[in-house]
Amino acid sequence: MPHTYPLDAWCIRETSFDTASNFLDETLFALGNGYIGLRGTLEEGYGGPAGTSLDGSYLNGFYESEPITYPEAAFALAKTNQFMLNVPNAKGVSLWLEGERFDMLAGQVENYERKLDFRTGVLERSLVWTSPQGRRAAIRSRRLVSFANKHLFAIEFAVTPLNFSGKVEVLSSIDGAVKNQEAGDDPRVGSAVSGPALHLLGADLEPHYSALLQRTLNSGFMLVSAALTEVSVPHEQGAAQDGLRLEQIYMVPAQQDVEIRLTKFGSYYSSRDYAESELAARSRQTLQAAQAAGFEALVAEQAAYLADFWAQADVEIAGDDALQQGIRFNQFHLLQSVGRDGRTNISAKGVTGEGYEGHYFWDTEIYIFPFFLYNKPEIARKLLEYRYAGLPFARERARQMSHAKGALYPWRTIAGEECSAYFPAGTAQYHINADIAYSIKLYMEATGDESYLLQYGAEIVMETARIWTGIGSYNREGRFVINEVTGPDEYTALVNNNYYTNAMAQMHLNFAASIAEHLAAQQPEAFARIAAAVQLNANEPAEWRRAAQLMLLPYDETLKIHEQDDSFLSRKVWDFANTPKENYPLLLNYHPMVIYRHQVCKQADVVLALLLLSDQFTLEDKKRDFDYYEAVTTHDSSLSSCIFSIIASEVGYHDKAYEYFMETARLDLDDTHGNTHYGVHTAAMAGTWMGVAYGFAGMRVVEGEVRFAPTLPAQWQHYQFRIHLHGCLLQVRVSAGKTEYKLLHGDVLAFTHRGDRVEVTASSPVKELP
Ligand code: BGC
Repeated sequence: MPHTYPLDAWCIRETSFDTASNFLDETLFALGNGYIGLRGTLEEGYGGPAGTSLDGSYLNGFYESEPITYPEAAFALAKTNQFMLNVPNAKGVSLWLEGERFDMLAGQVENYERKLDFRTGVLERSLVWTSPQGRRAAIRSRRLVSFANKHLFAIEFAVTPLNFSGKVEVLSSIDGAVKNQEAGDDPRVGSAVSGPALHLLGADLEPHYSALLQRTLNSGFMLVSAALTEVSVPHEQGAAQDGLRLEQIYMVPAQQDVEIRLTKFGSYYSSRDYAESELAARSRQTLQAAQAAGFEALVAEQAAYLADFWAQADVEIAGDDALQQGIRFNQFHLLQSVGRDGRTNISAKGVTGEGYEGHYFWDTEIYIFPFFLYNKPEIARKLLEYRYAGLPFARERARQMSHAKGALYPWRTIAGEECSAYFPAGTAQYHINADIAYSIKLYMEATGDESYLLQYGAEIVMETARIWTGIGSYNREGRFVINEVTGPDEYTALVNNNYYTNAMAQMHLNFAASIAEHLAAQQPEAFARIAAAVQLNANEPAEWRRAAQLMLLPYDETLKIHEQDDSFLSRKVWDFANTPKENYPLLLNYHPMVIYRHQVCKQADVVLALLLLSDQFTLEDKKRDFDYYEAVTTHDSSLSSCIFSIIASEVGYHDKAYEYFMETARLDLDDTHGNTHYGVHTAAMAGTWMGVAYGFAGMRVVEGEVRFAPTLPAQWQHYQFRIHLHGCLLQVRVSAGKTEYKLLHGDVLAFTHRGDRVEVTASSPVKELP
């Protein structure tokens, strides 16, 4: 059940606690720093109805693996799944007032407020609790997951007796008896794991410090989950271990109206980052340093990090409070979700839940990457470094798939191996290779960072381009064709000449050839090194050019639209009129083949190509394609509406642009897909940003040239966003009748506004244009 929050511009806030929306609230109030993710569960635990909570703590990129079992095997199917583990719950703090346990669902709760503030990054809760026997206490907690130190989180938990003095017990715990959610029939939910995945190696239990040492059964990683606790008032103290649960117990002779404050510093360290022998010492060091600095210092550090983030990334919308809140919520969660160490990426649900098992998809390159590229380019670079780290796996996968040369990236993965158990809508999406190349191109065009190209990018782009010449061939008419692939639209599988795939492959082949030509001419030494690393044949770049030039791009002359694939238009159109509302999403109600047989799209496919390869289409083309595909698209994927919004803006369907945009902007806050309790939708969240910049402001980057063509939705007074380009920071503010471009940082920047060249400089930083 969705929850409605007051429309605050910088936070989400609730003033009543509701078991019916609890599962969802746990996702929305989740905290993360791109590594640690703590669902917004209660420190003291939750005893509500079954199925209304998932007390999850996750570490981006920390996974268990399990063999994928197929009742009927086939050659080179993905063999092993990886899934993000629910790791020990180190958040636990429970409370007894003279023997009565604090529980939100017992006794009486008054003056309740819970708030997640996007500027402080702190989750706060405050309330007054009256126990079943009438003891009253004010209780408040603050929690943060540090942006400054990826291994650290901290909790402050405070209680003030209001009508009694007596024994108060506060207990801090680390609970290793956790397991992942089982998936059931919905492929989007979680993993197929059946039992605990971490086994105990040892435990440290000291008066104020405890640590659990565990190892994953199959992937073999070591994990240390640790906590250091302090209490602000005189107390007696004990510690206990109960199986996988470690406890620090504080007995306080409490005085009425005197606050008792427990501060807990928690950390996770795993052998995915450091040598096993270092983990315990690093945990202790981190926690001691945090304790020495104190909770307030961490709060200040967190706020400073976020102030810097918002100074770059804030999108301001005047005239729609719900939207303003939705956009900032999305941006905040993107920042919380994204891995930024070059070894991890951003999963479909971030670190907020187990949906899609913590896997990384093409969502990163095509939806999320632009947000970071233009708002925090150093994180964008880290996302690309992650792909380089995965190149050996992609090479290996290409060999398994019978490609003698080249690299094929996995459709879904954590560590780099293909984890997709359902190849028609998984491995067959070869466009992942072109999507990665596209993001490298976008990165180069926005930053000019040659060092990335020389160190990593050129190798990736060339190795992955080879797959196209490997799987494609020339047909009888001499056109280059790519058969038996699946495009972005997962309701149409294993087709010949998927328009999106072919058009993106064409871009990719040309890009690879131009990198080879450019480096050979400008950087002969680097070129020689890279060519040797990929064993490039002298004639390959020319082969790439030829395949690109002769690429078949399906077009229907009668309808004058780009055909999604060779056979799409000969399929029967789905009977939308007789499909009841409750049968959506179709994937949960029809066998895949029933869906594949029809003209019905889960998400933008050709329409996405209209955005990514914008200059290859006329406005009339775009309009006709939009009209046609809109009529057969269900938007069952959360990746769809934002793309339709952007193209609707471009072709002048302003009402539709706004409607599709609204569906994206508050998709998680309003739980419009009904599954946010399993985690936020990071691609759609980033799609909101694209909806503003690419959609309403008409931003396109064509061969390095940045173009704007802004429109202002009738519902808004103005909107404003900022982008990093070539080391400059540009602010774009669109209001009635005018657009103001302001150079906030940098010397000089040129771009176009409705086709006219504009230049802003440090000495003349502002241009106002109609
Ligand atoms: C979409 C894919 C997407 C995946 C993860 C699926 O529902 O069809 O395009 O990559 O979700 O977000």
